[in-house]
Amino acid sequence: MITASHAARLSLPETDWRTLWREAVTDPQELLGLVGLGHLADRLPAADAGFAVRVPRGFVARMGQGNPQDPLLLQALPQLAELDVVPGFATDAVGDMAARSAQGVLHKYEGRALLIASGSCAINCRYCFRRHFPYGDEMAAAGQWRKALEHVREDSSISELILSGGDPLSLATAKLEELTRGLAQIPHVTRLRIHTRLPVVLPERIDDAFIRWLGELPLQKVVVLHANHANEFDARVDAACARLRDAGATLLNQSVLLRGINDDADALAALSERLFAAGVLPYYLHQLDRVQGAAHFEVDDDRAQALVEAVRHRLPGYLVPKLVREVGGEPSKRPV
Ligand SMILES: *Cc1c(COP(=O)(O)O)cnc(C)c1O
Ligand code: SF4
Repeated sequence: MITASHAARLSLPETDWRTLWREAVTDPQELLGLVGLGHLADRLPAADAGFAVRVPRGFVARMGQGNPQDPLLLQALPQLAELDVVPGFATDAVGDMAARSAQGVLHKYEGRALLIASGSCAINCRYCFRRHFPYGDEMAAAGQWRKALEHVREDSSISELILSGGDPLSLATAKLEELTRGLAQIPHVTRLRIHTRLPVVLPERIDDAFIRWLGELPLQKVVVLHANHANEFDARVDAACARLRDAGATLLNQSVLLRGINDDADALAALSERLFAAGVLPYYLHQLDRVQGAAHFEVDDDRAQALVEAVRHRLPGYLVPKLVREVGGEPSKRPV
């Protein structure tokens, strides 16, 4: 139910998203305290296991109290297991991360070019390859846009530009406007896709200025969200999704299969149902990139397939995500 004060909060720019971004929890002890687990501080690894803690307060508010296994908490809280060195888990799991950040544009798949628009994220997900590439915001500079757009302009086979990162919506809307002004001069690009976790972890980012920009874009628009568990949704996330749809975006979701977080058929089915309730279709369920520090999240392929099979038996086909893995050098994501 939406109360009057709630509605006011949804429509008024009472707290700018950048302020909420800055006010994120960055101290793991504080995070434990906020969810009633202050007594577990001795289970934290020293120095955040080499990857800073960052989680917006609105996302913390969706975590359960007193539950060390909470599926949202586990995505953000450093654990001792991150210090384990496990064979097969590298610091450059996808193989091309260095090239990604230097060049800024990745054109591996036919018809689609992916732009590393920003290296920043509002949340630091413990399972992310980004833990080894704390690259900055260098892509936001106008000169870098120009180089990336030049590549896209010169290749008429590219019909879809994907903004990825990091999180491209970490950029100011004015920066996004700057990019799409350049894009408007490239007739063969007909679709803009945005890969972002912000509508889920910091829904305030989907503010009036952003919606105006998105709504006025003369392109087809796809926004691929990233949520891993039904509990990540609340009324504010629903409102952000509704605004994105009203601005003409098709909404999809990608998740990562994570041991202890969403690796059971009930959790996956509930996620699909919750996505659909928010007007979002499940797209990909990714097998984890094998990065050092994330081995404790891995689910083996046999179990992963069995889980998706169980979901397939329960839900309509359009609510079953495709189970995939990213393999360097392949022409697409590889179905598992
Ligand atoms: C994942 C990815 C894409 C998008 O692939 P889709 O299957 O179209 O979602 C495009 N380019 C690169 C480099 C990617 O890693
Ligand atoms: S939001 Fe995406 S890119 Fe950023 S830390 Fe999380 S998984 Fe990685």
